[in-house]
Amino acid sequence: MRVFLDQTTVRPELTDVSCNVCGRDVDKNVSGYFEDHLTISKSWGYHSPYDGEIHAIDVCVDCYADWTAQFEIPPKVSSYFHLQMCEG
Ligand SMILES: [Zn+2]
Repeated sequence: MRVFLDQTTVRPELTDVSCNVCGRDVDKNVSGYFEDHLTISKSWGYHSPYDGEIHAIDVCVDCYADWTAQFEIPPKVSSYFHLQMCEG
């Protein structure tokens, strides 16, 4: 038998997101969710210039388009909806 103690836990609430490229705030939609944007978190490993550091960035949709347009090889794009249908 397990007995639990009722506790109030504090969970950090995300209140603002800013694009690291242009500095603009990522707006919330009518449902209260942040407009879609790119979030990257990278834990750098041994022998990299950032060994042991975690870097996190957020990029708005407009800056994502500008950034990826500069890529020599574009991002691989596949359908999210197709994956959902295949996985059931
Ligand atoms: Zn931006």
